[in-house]
Amino acid sequence: MNCLGRFADKVVAVTGGGSGIGEAICHRIASEGGRIALLDLNIEAAERVAAVIRGNGGKADAYRADVTDAAGLATLFDRVVSHTGGLDAAVNSAGIGGPFVPSLEYPLDWWQRTLDINLSGVFYSIRAELPHMIKAGKGNIVNISSVCGIIGQAGTAAYVATKHALIGLTKTLALEYGRQGIRVNAVGPTYIRTPLTLAEIPQEQWAMLDERHATGRCATPEDVAALTAFLASDDSGSVTGSFHLVDGGLTAG
Ligand code: NAP
Repeated sequence: MNCLGRFADKVVAVTGGGSGIGEAICHRIASEGGRIALLDLNIEAAERVAAVIRGNGGKADAYRADVTDAAGLATLFDRVVSHTGGLDAAVNSAGIGGPFVPSLEYPLDWWQRTLDINLSGVFYSIRAELPHMIKAGKGNIVNISSVCGIIGQAGTAAYVATKHALIGLTKTLALEYGRQGIRVNAVGPTYIRTPLTLAEIPQEQWAMLDERHATGRCATPEDVAALTAFLASDDSGSVTGSFHLVDGGLTAG
């Protein structure tokens, strides 16, 4: 474990840190010396990831969080900061996929649930994170959107709508708080094999998805973690209000 890395002495919170992309981001930032606060609805998963990081010599604590609970998140971030001493960066990765059905048949309860978690959940997270960063006069937020933040995808109206909205939210927050030392960026991963997608996309479709990329493969959670770590670090000092694809050239053609 490199404790003299880019995140030495820095505290980084990751929502959805117990699985998939969020998990890879936790490992990457911890490997560069960051102290990780893992926030996840699935506390067992968050505890497991935190234990692996600590086993590797890193620093991590797990917290049960529901990003749809604005008041609960505010209290939780107060707890995180009183426990760790600060909040240098936050990555908002918690999210869900939902059913693949055309809009006229899209279940309204799933529409609402997707908006609650993927969009309101990020807004509530930011509102809980920002006050601590403003108080410190610096901070850095990375929102995990999707390649579906800039393209449509038939059958996933709610998911696509929330991921587009996250890019507008990101730009607006960057404009509002830049002078207070806060940077806000968004990342757009392509298809990635994680528990979320492996549950929704049949195994036989993955080879076809790989082929749609200029690189000949879907991206990995580690690919997303590398870019996210850059954006969450001081290396990206002038990067704010922008959206960064990790899409293997999927949208280049
Ligand atoms: P994942 O493996 O399912 O991880 C998401 C984590 O978020 C899970 O641990 C999940 O807990 C947690 N979560 C769900 N609802 C929550 C809530 N209300 N409060 C707190 N935590 C909650 O999914 P992933 O593929 O890593 O996706 C992470 C992010 O990347 C999502 O925003 C997703 O839209 C985005 N993304 C993914 C892909 C992809 O292909 N995988 C591509 C582009 C963008 P449970 O296990 O209990 O649900």
